[in-house]
Amino acid sequence: MRILLQFPEGLKDKAMKYAKELELLGNEVFISASPTFGACDLALDEAKNIKADKLVHFGHAEFHHVDFNVEYVHYTIDANLDILSESLKLLEPYKNIGIVTTIQHIHQLDAIKLFYEKNGKNVIIGKPYGFAKQKGQILGCDIGSSANIDREVDAHVYFGGGMFHPLGALLNTKKPFLIIEPFQGYVGFIDSYREKYRKISRGKILSSINAKKFGILVSTKNGQHNMQLANIMKKRIEESGCEAGILVANTFDFNSIDNMMEFDALVNTACPRIGIDDNDRTRVPLLSSNELMEVLKIKKETIALRNKNNI
Ligand code: SF4
Repeated sequence: MRILLQFPEGLKDKAMKYAKELELLGNEVFISASPTFGACDLALDEAKNIKADKLVHFGHAEFHHVDFNVEYVHYTIDANLDILSESLKLLEPYKNIGIVTTIQHIHQLDAIKLFYEKNGKNVIIGKPYGFAKQKGQILGCDIGSSANIDREVDAHVYFGGGMFHPLGALLNTKKPFLIIEPFQGYVGFIDSYREKYRKISRGKILSSINAKKFGILVSTKNGQHNMQLANIMKKRIEESGCEAGILVANTFDFNSIDNMMEFDALVNTACPRIGIDDNDRTRVPLLSSNELMEVLKIKKETIALRNKNNI
């Protein structure tokens, strides 16, 4: 069988080990060298171009069904749970807690839940919206496991590596948010980021009020492609008297996009985290569709006010 292997950045150093194992079983094996961000980003074009019979995608669970033979290989990490005891003092005021984690630690969720229950907490595990498949699991773009239980809990707890996953959940909830990062040995609340990102969002909106030409980003990645939204955004922009162009790429190279000097602002329709995490990588404001709607609303109100006052 002809197989294309695809690894996310953190697992790319394991590619040759798996390739050799599959070759020894008689397969013809290739390794995708493209950047990989999630199961929303399957190397389908590469697999089809080399006429692969199967794509083996490591490290992520299925995002949505695609019309190709894809095998998903989960990568689990057994993090040391001793660090949980450091969170008890901080969680003392909160009886009802929600716990979320990533696919790498989802097998540890029962043990984490049991730990808190033994320490007098009422633990609630929420359901994701649908891109994430397991209760208590979050993705950068599916924080349903936190948002769906925000009303029921007194505080949220995230267990896992890095800030990427908890940041999305934090920005879509209102309750105190504690992270337990077992690799750096960090335990602490991250609530102050809510205000920081609210200010960044407001700043982007205000600096786009005078924009006349908008570039709308559309990704060709299987789980990020949203031409329908891009067309709606283009129509709204044109109705407001401005111009819009739809910019298509697989992975956006912001250095290259910055060469498109005509655009005064960009609108993201791809991975929702691009508008949050890549803000400082673009020459002009990078807006989400909600932020664009706010910009267009303020433009309209400003024009109406000017007309009323004959300015
Ligand atoms: S957050 Fe972005 S990169 Fe991650 S799975 Fe969702 S769409 Fe893909």
